[in-house]
Amino acid sequence: MTKFHAYRNLKICSKDCLCLFVCPTGAANNETGQIDFEKCIGCGACANACPAKAISIIPNKMPPQQPKNEKVITELFKIANQKITEIKILKQMLNDNKEDEKLLKALIHSNKVMIEDILREAGYMLPQSKNTNKLLNDIKQNGDKKTKEIASRLLDKIEVNE
Ligand code: SF4
Ligand code: SF4
Repeated sequence: MTKFHAYRNLKICSKDCLCLFVCPTGAANNETGQIDFEKCIGCGACANACPAKAISIIPNKMPPQQPKNEKVITELFKIANQKITEIKILKQMLNDNKEDEKLLKALIHSNKVMIEDILREAGYMLPQSKNTNKLLNDIKQNGDKKTKEIASRLLDKIEVNE
């Protein structure tokens, strides 16, 4: 049977603490600000009480990701690489031109969002998916000190779907 746990979006949490009052296990009262997954029983009381809608109840184990056609993945990666090139050009323009700073920054941001969407379409949506796990393991092996540490911490938290 699928089990659930609560996840708090700290960006929209208004810190009025109703979740702490209703949580039967103390899981919502965690020093990190995030829900304590070990204590959470997934009852949903916190999500119902939260006026900011900052808490989601999510399954502990995600369903397997939809398989993607290799040709589609290849083409999506090509588009993502074009976007990376565009970002490099925009950053160079930003260095040379302070007058259009707002516009150039908005274009850089929009390209980043598009890359995220493209990579999700290419099958890298869920951290639990095998391909994302492989990518994180590659980064853990070959990244610089900081990215290795981040990949390692993510891998410790993620259960991979078979
Ligand atoms: S009830 Fe919602 S807004 Fe209030 S502290 Fe909890 S998560 Fe944050
Ligand atoms: S789902 Fe239930 S146990 Fe988990 S944090 Fe919310 S209120 Fe507490």
